[in-house]
Amino acid sequence: MRRPRRTTRLWRRVLGWTGLWLGLLGTPALQAQDRAFALRAAMWDSRTIPVCWENPTEADSQGRQWTRAAVQDTWERFSQVRFVGWQACPPQSRGIRIRIADEGPHVRGAGKLIDGVPAGMVLNFTFRRWSASCPQQLEYCVKTLAVHEFGHALSFVHEHNRPEASVACQAERQGPDGDFLVTPYDLYSVMNYCNPQWAGNGRLSALDIVAVQQLYGAPPQEPVVDLAGSVRFVLESGAEMPARRQGSLYVLTTPYPSGTRFRVMVSSPQPAYLYVFGFDRLEKSYRIFPPALDDQATRAAFQNHIVIPDAAHYIQLDETTGTEYMCVVFARQPLPFAAILQRLEGMRGALLSRLRMVLEPDLVAEEFIRPTETGGIGFTAASRGRTVVPIIVALDHVGGESPRHTTPPAGR
Ligand SMILES: [Zn+2]
Repeated sequence: MRRPRRTTRLWRRVLGWTGLWLGLLGTPALQAQDRAFALRAAMWDSRTIPVCWENPTEADSQGRQWTRAAVQDTWERFSQVRFVGWQACPPQSRGIRIRIADEGPHVRGAGKLIDGVPAGMVLNFTFRRWSASCPQQLEYCVKTLAVHEFGHALSFVHEHNRPEASVACQAERQGPDGDFLVTPYDLYSVMNYCNPQWAGNGRLSALDIVAVQQLYGAPPQEPVVDLAGSVRFVLESGAEMPARRQGSLYVLTTPYPSGTRFRVMVSSPQPAYLYVFGFDRLEKSYRIFPPALDDQATRAAFQNHIVIPDAAHYIQLDETTGTEYMCVVFARQPLPFAAILQRLEGMRGALLSRLRMVLEPDLVAEEFIRPTETGGIGFTAASRGRTVVPIIVALDHVGGESPRHTTPPAGR
């Protein structure tokens, strides 16, 4: 695992903006079929995996406790995997043999390829020689690194090695590639060096959870995740438009001016019908996806990635400034989209409460929806007989630069 960054990544800022204007549509949305990263041959045959320490001492007992707690709170909590033992290694014992050393934490191979391998995993609890910032935040570093390295130990490889990662991310390629794409590409994975948070701060992303459950099963006490998704907003320049959760909504943290062009990248590891619309200050709704209503019948449930509007076009903010909302609805069954939009426009009140009223009989209960903890927009949910999870994202659309382009970008 690489060292933590000293500062958080600075997002590129862009100029102000307003209402949504949809670039010319007509070409089918891009549906990449690629999926996420594990090494199939490295999957353990048993969900009970022995772990031992090669060189434990009294001085590192705190580090060992943190490691075990971090693994329990993440990979074990959300799957049927159980790491057992955690004692000093008998000679030639099987399972994961952890050596404690002041060097870069790493594994010697993915998954069961380190079964019984001496120093199959190396963890650092002091960081005197490896990271300048970790000694001041020992617990954070120990736990975050443990989650990443145990991800490898479960056969996950680096997410940023995937072809969908940006060029900058690909430059950080490390270790072997996987041969088993478990989920859509996940910027927020604990296995992704390009995660805006260092290794996701050691908290599994929604897709990390889906992935470990696909490989090793969901824990019996937790309802099975059968609906999940993540949404990214990306500027024409390729820069992410960062978002944070605020109550039941998400907000893009930077205001954008009229004329701003962007795309929405939606991922779903489970088959889902997708509906996207905008809602501006004037209470006017804009259907964004699917592009044509009669398209619905043919647009079967998608899985993996969808680029909205499509690979050749952008959504562009029009001249109506103010807060606007983009709503992405994930559904397990087709919805009467036109009727829903009509009802929404005819109601009063906050968009979320309107949406709840309109979708009520089908809405997945809030207690079974778990927002992505690691930043970004996303969720996992156990539908339990319901079918719909909406995500609402608020955009602060400001005036300012008049748009340079009022026509769709070239390359249509
Ligand atoms: Zn790694």
